[in-house]
Amino acid sequence: VNVLINASISNNSLDDDNNEDSDKKLIRPRTVSSPRNNFPSYSNDDISVRFRNIDYRSVGSFQNIVESVSTRQSIRFNSEQVTLGASNFLSSNYESLDYDPCENNLLQDEERNKGYKFVVKKNIARWFIFLVIGIFTALIACFVDISIEQLSKLKYGYLKKLVDNCIYNDESNCLWIPYVMWTILNIILVLIGAVLVTYIEPVAAGSGIPQVKCYLNGIKIPRVVRIKTLVVKIIGVIVTVVGGLAGGKEGPMIHAGAVVAAGISQGKSTTFKRDLGIFKYFREDHEKRDFVSGGAASGVSAAFGAPIGGVLFSIEEGTSFFNQSLTWRTFFASMISTFTLNTILSAYHGHLGDLSYPGLLNFGKFETICYKIYEIPLFMIMGTIGGLLGSLWNHINYKITFFRVKYIKFKWLKVVEALCVAVMSATMGFLMIFFIDDCKSSKQFPTENPVQMYCKNGEHSAVAALWFQTPESSVRSLFHDPIGSHNDLTLIIFIPLYFILAVCTFGLNMSSGLFIPSLLIGAAWGRLIGSGFAKLCPSCTFVDPGKYALLGAAAQLGGVVRMTISLTTILIEATQGISFGLPIIIVLITAKWVGDFFNEGIYDIHIQMAGIPLLPWEAPPLSNNIYASEIMSHPVITLKTTENVGHIIEMLKCVTFNGFPVVDPPSGDHDEINCYGRIRGLILRSQLIVVLQNKIFNEYSEFWDRDVSIRIFRDEYPRYPTIEEVYITEEEKTYTIDLRPFMNPSPYILKHSATLPRTFRLFRALGLRHLPVVNDINEVIGMITRKDVARYRIWKHQGRMGLDELSITNK
Ligand code: ATP
Repeated sequence: VNVLINASISNNSLDDDNNEDSDKKLIRPRTVSSPRNNFPSYSNDDISVRFRNIDYRSVGSFQNIVESVSTRQSIRFNSEQVTLGASNFLSSNYESLDYDPCENNLLQDEERNKGYKFVVKKNIARWFIFLVIGIFTALIACFVDISIEQLSKLKYGYLKKLVDNCIYNDESNCLWIPYVMWTILNIILVLIGAVLVTYIEPVAAGSGIPQVKCYLNGIKIPRVVRIKTLVVKIIGVIVTVVGGLAGGKEGPMIHAGAVVAAGISQGKSTTFKRDLGIFKYFREDHEKRDFVSGGAASGVSAAFGAPIGGVLFSIEEGTSFFNQSLTWRTFFASMISTFTLNTILSAYHGHLGDLSYPGLLNFGKFETICYKIYEIPLFMIMGTIGGLLGSLWNHINYKITFFRVKYIKFKWLKVVEALCVAVMSATMGFLMIFFIDDCKSSKQFPTENPVQMYCKNGEHSAVAALWFQTPESSVRSLFHDPIGSHNDLTLIIFIPLYFILAVCTFGLNMSSGLFIPSLLIGAAWGRLIGSGFAKLCPSCTFVDPGKYALLGAAAQLGGVVRMTISLTTILIEATQGISFGLPIIIVLITAKWVGDFFNEGIYDIHIQMAGIPLLPWEAPPLSNNIYASEIMSHPVITLKTTENVGHIIEMLKCVTFNGFPVVDPPSGDHDEINCYGRIRGLILRSQLIVVLQNKIFNEYSEFWDRDVSIRIFRDEYPRYPTIEEVYITEEEKTYTIDLRPFMNPSPYILKHSATLPRTFRLFRALGLRHLPVVNDINEVIGMITRKDVARYRIWKHQGRMGLDELSITNK
């Protein structure tokens, strides 16, 4: 079948003679000059000149076009120019989500038939789902919390017993026994987590926040919201924390909330192959995204007991699509989550129904925190230290991740690496306990697992107290322990050791978050600063090491993740320190500004290293002189309103694109002008496949006429069959399909003269996937997708800025 397809061929990217040239243009060298130098400015006349140079009116046969497209792909998808692990490429393996609802005839029919009753029903169902999301997320959080607490008690209780036995029995050289047992316990637990993540569900690795962030941004991360991922994540995070790694449960809880939301809202499970037949009208990407944002907020809320922080987290990560009613529903889910969590945990702690029980607060309650105006410069200095340490942490982690991508490729190696870090964690802890003599009175400074070690009777080792508990409990200790509970030397040694441990742990093939480790590092150096002040000014009442520990924790975490609004609120809610809001904001903003001067937040670094086409908040500055005609791809593979079945199949097999403009058929009388049809709509690959699978051909119209509804598309969502799975007979290949009822009849389109910032805003604000580019008379001349826009990225390095044009690779 050699059907004519409308196409445009550019001389600057497709002309064979110019391949070398275009190659250079696509991968622009990084220079320190301003973007203006990279992209010389053009006047309006220049645009038309540039435009005229593009021979977009050429027509080719289908084969010609596919050939041209593959040539272009091979130029763009040039794997050789890409160093994996570096952050200078985009991966073509990540597809986008369709956040722009397809308002086709089928949807309109559905609305017309169901009327306002349906609108009310849908709204009630929405609220109900948000309620269930809140409850389920909280139940998971309770399970994780209680499991971690009980298993940690068992582990550290056992280790304490071993140490005590050794010391009391005065046996010489027996301390190796608790060390070996500590190491073995860590290895067993970490082995479970690493094997689960590496061999069963790799997407469950890490904190999950980057994945959720990408999902809300509009990128399909395969398997990210599956039940299997949730199970691996839950078990993974428990064994990570109990296994002694420097990881926390907060990030994974956010991911867990997102999976719960995605699962419940769809009323079916692909993993269990079960369809409950409910909530079918929510089986669309943009509906699912709203629930996922509610789930993520519930996750934060359950992890920190911070409902407002949860809502702000979701807004901070997905602002572009938030509206008043979604904010309200998200807040409802968060409140329900905290309420459920507190009810269950209050019962667990023996205070059923006492929701103001202080033990429910994650980081303990700060009774009174006072600060004076002259401390504000000091808070800024702490923010600066947090920014510096945070960016150093990010840089080291970037280097380690680069090394991992390059050299730790085999699955078994990834498991071995996790085990090495588990051994490292036990060794560091043990060496500190063994060598540092920091004895404290057990009466004056009570602790959960007092280990006597070489201390006198009635005393315990403060170092052991720091290590023989979960990192979260250590943060609480540093915040609230009275002055003098921790020796400065202990903290001075603890900070770099834990810093190294945390930086090595993040990025391992384990489910673990970095909130708690960062808070712990910051709390330690903050407390050190506080204790320094207490020594300098013993009579000053406002000098409380716990207060500085809290600020240090905020600064360190802010320096690593660069979130300000949600973190401030989370910390205030988790400590009930509303009066201390201003210092926390000051510290976080300073940490962000200082950190941003050197590098990006850790999540963005990891997202860039994976080549994920995330769209940042803003278009690159000074990019108004880049036009849609330069960004777009051409020739474009388009379809006619009534298209031949065989041709559609051949096309879907030849190209990997997911969206095709539907155009008017060329009217033969004005060959040159009409060879590019006017745009009539946009159709997705998934829609074409469902239509083909259901054989909705014009020739069979008498059989399906009344049965076709939007349901057939929802039934297949989200895992549509591939074109290879669709069986069509040779005869059927000669039939035709009328695409009009299925296509999006009013897709967003763009004039060729639109600038990059305008294009960017459309993609970012509307969550678009495809944007056909048209000429002055609405004829399709190009196609822009998310990756085409995400390729333009601003780079900053030590105060210098420039514009990068990333290459796209299929690695
Ligand atoms: P996504 O992967 O985001 O779901 P997609 O698969 O349709 O969308 P991309 O993978 O982003 O498209 O496209 C890769 C390149 O192919 C981009 O440069 C894009 O402009 C181009 N492209 C996409 N669709 C078409 C099309 N119908 N005709 C020609 N080029 C296209």
